[in-house]
Amino acid sequence: MNPCAGDGFDVSALANAATRALRAYDPGHDLPVLRQRFGADLIELGANENPLGPSPRVLDAIRVALAEVHLYPDPKGGALKAALAAQLAVDVAQIALGNGSHELLMLLAQCFADAATSVVFSEYGFAVFPIATTAAGAHPIRVPALPREHATLPRGHDLDAMAAAIRPDTRIVYLANPNNPTGTWFDDAALDAFIARAPPTTLVVIDEAYAEYIVAPALTTALRLLPRHPNVVVTRTFSKAHGLAGLRVGYAVSSPSVIAVIERLRESFNVNALALAAANAALSDADHVARSRAWNHAEREWLVARLRERGLRVSPSQTNFVLVDFGQDAAPTERALYERGVIVRPVAGYGLHDCLRISVGTRAANQRLLDALP
Ligand SMILES: *Cc1c(COP(=O)(O)O)cnc(C)c1O
Repeated sequence: MNPCAGDGFDVSALANAATRALRAYDPGHDLPVLRQRFGADLIELGANENPLGPSPRVLDAIRVALAEVHLYPDPKGGALKAALAAQLAVDVAQIALGNGSHELLMLLAQCFADAATSVVFSEYGFAVFPIATTAAGAHPIRVPALPREHATLPRGHDLDAMAAAIRPDTRIVYLANPNNPTGTWFDDAALDAFIARAPPTTLVVIDEAYAEYIVAPALTTALRLLPRHPNVVVTRTFSKAHGLAGLRVGYAVSSPSVIAVIERLRESFNVNALALAAANAALSDADHVARSRAWNHAEREWLVARLRERGLRVSPSQTNFVLVDFGQDAAPTERALYERGVIVRPVAGYGLHDCLRISVGTRAANQRLLDALP
């Protein structure tokens, strides 16, 4: 029962038009409850976290930062931005920090899109793209993905169709490379061709949440486009390969003009002090990232081979997860895994009813998944 029932007037109708069109995030299973029920037996392969955890340097840096939690964090995140600028060979003025890259993807739409504009993204593109678009009141243009049977990019972004979908009022195109939940990617040449067709009045946002995991030689990073294209924005995160999902840190790299606009709306202390210290320490440990990438690559190949041996279709992936197509409604499989303490990610919300997204875990976790598959 609503503990605040009034005289019949539904106050939720007071939400603005953009917010009325949104629904609250569905967290799926209640993980804290499941951790209590299954204890160490719970296998969590639903959130694309790094099973190796963060660099040991991160824990040391957090211990030091703990002594100063009574102080506000540096609102500019100066030390972290300087470290990022040096590593990425860009200027500090080209970087904005976010409470996760999710926040930056939302901020971009808040700053650049409104009801008079449109935003382009792909079918099966990352879930935040349509939410950011709707929250800004902008018109969503959802471009059909490549066909399921595509040889190298099943259900991947159709860049030709996306370029053709850009209208004069299109302020943002969101691309995820590689994409979540499909794991698909497009190489540098394909992105170059797309950028050549995108007008300078449209921001091209390239979400590179899985950049550190990429092993495909033809795919590097869109950062190389920044010197010639001030409308390109690259977002990255410390949640995936750096193993800091619980701390919420991401960053955007673009031209100083775009970053200056984001800074107008960015909440002053959006990245907390422990997160700033941890991200800086994570960035300094290139060996840990390299270990995570190599380990993920080998373990993903192993898992994909085992899944394919069972006759399942598994999309190629450059990430730390795979999209598995069961060829029929995957809900009963998800339910059976859940009952056996194996958590994977349903993707029916994306329209992928026959698929599940499965993170690459430790060998023991992956084996448990295989054993638990009905
Ligand atoms: C996980 C993920 C993010 C965001 O992660 P944050 O934790 O908010 O930094 C962004 N984009 C994609 C495609 C992701 O999979």
